Amino acid sequence: MNKIIDYPLVFLSLVFCFLSVQSQPKYKYDLIIKNGTVIDSKNEIYAFLDLAIRDQKIVAVEKNISATAAPKFIDAKGMYVCPGLIDIHSHNFHGTEADQYLSNSFTALPPDGFTFRNGITTIVDVGGAGWRNFKTFKTQTIDRSKTRVLSFLNIVGNGMRGGVYEQDLSDMNPKLTALLAKQYPGVIVGFKLAHYSGFDWTPTDRVIEAGNTANLPVMIDFGGSQPELSLEKLLLEKLRPGDIFTHTYAHVNGRIPIVDKNGKLGAFVLKAQQKGIIIDVGHGGGSFDFEQAVPALAQGLKPNTISTDLHTGSMNGGMKNILNVMSKFLNLGLSLEEVVRANTWSAAQAIRQYHLGSLSPGNEADICILNLRNGNFGFVDTKGLKMSGTQKLECELTLRSGKVVFDLNGLASESWKK
Ligand SMILES: [Zn+2]
Repeated sequence: MNKIIDYPLVFLSLVFCFLSVQSQPKYKYDLIIKNGTVIDSKNEIYAFLDLAIRDQKIVAVEKNISATAAPKFIDAKGMYVCPGLIDIHSHNFHGTEADQYLSNSFTALPPDGFTFRNGITTIVDVGGAGWRNFKTFKTQTIDRSKTRVLSFLNIVGNGMRGGVYEQDLSDMNPKLTALLAKQYPGVIVGFKLAHYSGFDWTPTDRVIEAGNTANLPVMIDFGGSQPELSLEKLLLEKLRPGDIFTHTYAHVNGRIPIVDKNGKLGAFVLKAQQKGIIIDVGHGGGSFDFEQAVPALAQGLKPNTISTDLHTGSMNGGMKNILNVMSKFLNLGLSLEEVVRANTWSAAQAIRQYHLGSLSPGNEADICILNLRNGNFGFVDTKGLKMSGTQKLECELTLRSGKVVFDLNGLASESWKK
């Protein structure tokens, strides 16, 4: 029997084959980073490996990925390829209101101007906004920034407005604070108490109540009371495992220092860390003294997280930026792996964002490439005192969601001569 040829069907099949060939990707990956030393603490990687990105995600971390498997590759020879850094203590509720300290004010800094150039891809504003003004912070800063901006909501409804606002117990509402956090999961990732200056545990109890209600961690900037409240009671009785003690290496009026006048680290501080309290740096403009940090480190108290406490009062002082603070700790004896871990996987765990802070395939491609410079450098604390050092970290390149967002020496650029 003669076969009847179905011409329309043949035509459609040919068109389909042609389209399939056309839609085959020309390259396996979008971007490859080659020849660098990968530091990924979560996955216990510290090795010469290549990394491939496709559709804004990390898809492979392997040896010898072919440079031709993507339209573009970055040569990271002699450099360190790390997850994008996370700064868990910053102040970014930037605005133009006068006399509002770190809430919708000039003193708080717009994130993108200070993050990518330092390898940061995620920044946490701690306490700038409270439940009353969080929506302003979200529309004004969070939604408009390329940096991933998260929030620790202040237990004070008005946020960090300074002055009388932060002393108002009647504006510390754990119920409303927790309720708002539940409406923004993954954006509001904890609660903050700061700057309260009374001999009173009520503010601490309120912020922890919010933490219990929303099942989120709290960060405490403790002190300001005369006589001083017991630091041992705060760390061992009040805070829960996973809560964050910031400004650890400070020596300021109104807060008991962790190292006493004889140079002895309080045993309760190590005990608290063992119990699971996160020891955070929160360098700031007044909260990091070598007089505290050097003996504390010598007696075993390494920080879990190395944050900046970024605002206009710290960025031009001894703090400068996150890489400068990490470099201080390098020169104080921490290893490169330890300082990178503190601001990647440990920071992600502290804010309970487990999809961040590592180079696991499937993660959004937030990556930084760091250089470790050798030379003669000086590091200054918040009393204005100096320590010399020989190592300094520098950010070469930052990728946010697979896109180059900072490139110091044009690693990802073609030569103009081409
Ligand atoms: Zn702060």
